[in-house]
Amino acid sequence: MVLNELGARINGALQALSKASVIDEKAVDALLREVCSALLESDVNVMLVQKMRQNVKKRVNMDELASSANKRKVIQNAVFEELCGLVDPGVQPWKPQKGKQNVIMFVGLQGSGKTTSCTKLAVYYKRKGMKVGLVCADTFRAGAFDQLKQNASRAHVPFYGDYSETDPVQIAIEGVAQFKKSKFDLIIVDTSGRHKQEAELFAEMEQIAAAVKPNNTIFVMDGTIGQAADSQARAFKESVDIGSIIITKMDGHAKGGGAISAVAATGSPIEFIGTGEHMHDLDKFSARPFISKLLGMGDISGLVETVQDMHMEKNEDMMKNLAKGVFTLKDMRDQLQTIMNMGPLNKIMGMMPGMSPDMMKGFDADESTRRLRSYMCVFDSMTELELNSDGKMFEEESRLRRVARGSGVRLVEIQALLYQHKQFGQIVKKMGGPKGMLSKMNPNA
Ligand code: GDP
Repeated sequence: MVLNELGARINGALQALSKASVIDEKAVDALLREVCSALLESDVNVMLVQKMRQNVKKRVNMDELASSANKRKVIQNAVFEELCGLVDPGVQPWKPQKGKQNVIMFVGLQGSGKTTSCTKLAVYYKRKGMKVGLVCADTFRAGAFDQLKQNASRAHVPFYGDYSETDPVQIAIEGVAQFKKSKFDLIIVDTSGRHKQEAELFAEMEQIAAAVKPNNTIFVMDGTIGQAADSQARAFKESVDIGSIIITKMDGHAKGGGAISAVAATGSPIEFIGTGEHMHDLDKFSARPFISKLLGMGDISGLVETVQDMHMEKNEDMMKNLAKGVFTLKDMRDQLQTIMNMGPLNKIMGMMPGMSPDMMKGFDADESTRRLRSYMCVFDSMTELELNSDGKMFEEESRLRRVARGSGVRLVEIQALLYQHKQFGQIVKKMGGPKGMLSKMNPNA
């Protein structure tokens, strides 16, 4: 991803500052030159880059800096804060509430990733326990109906559309009414994107908005469009009240900077970024963690949210076992299964502090996913007795061979699994038990 390169360059400039023998105005200027040229090459709007440069210089008072004990930290903090300022309009995105029958309308140009993002958002809130429905109010593009219907059925999200109706406003009204009657928490309306900024597109958007009165309007923007982002965002902002933004295709060759500049054009916050074609490829966006991750400093809040979404506490058997300092093969299987359900591994890895973009280069997500899948085949070939054990019984070679035959997985890979299980088990033993940290986390144990 090209944004990784931006992160690496800014990071490089900050590190060069750490190594500089004298920290004076010249060193600060050199740092800013490098940071700004990296931002410009990533398509960030030139006015914004200029403003950012001025703001950093304002923040770093050279006279005070001369007497400061930690000059590097002062400068690095100033750059960090200003980078955050670039992507943060200072407004919180609107949040749907359970039991409130919220309506979200999606707008954006055709091909921006609107329909895909509708399903991703539905899956995101479904994971949070909401009852979500999708409405296809795009009668312009042939195939929009089938695409959203297919996505919705794959994601097990109820769908409303009408092949024979040609008026998108009518479809939106009926779809929203039907889902409201069935007490849905969140109703997502996908609208037409047409192919360019046509007057009819904006008129249609306004009519749908007037008819369904959405609580929030999300503007979907393609992250690869570069400098054109600014004028596109302004045109949409003039027609509808954009509440938040989703920037898509940030996984591919998106320089991302153009779309990031859209924040300034609309004054609306980026709420999510699309990082792939899969329904789980939607990352929550907030300025500080994003910049922190960009610079290889990790994204703790994203990691915490991901772990919370796993609802590990619902697996009572495992929590009880862990608190006692016991870790069975079944516990390991359940944990790995939950991780696999969370989507691509590289995303979770990327949230770990210390995982710089450079380090991620060596991580082969496909290979790790393949290994996890083969582990699942191994677990499927085990008996209940074996799964509930600590794995020691696999010292019997005949048992090991039986599982290898049943799962089609090589013996060495099964041994690697058992070894990893043993390692985890030792950690759990240390943390669990009556005095351990884990038993305090779970009062039911
Ligand atoms: P719409 O016309 O705005 O509804 O766009 P679609 O949802 O049909 O998406 C257009 C294309 O972009 C499809 O091929 C999607 O699979 C792809 N797409 C959407 N979001 C992403 C993303 O975040 N990353 C990548 N790589 N592709 C995406």
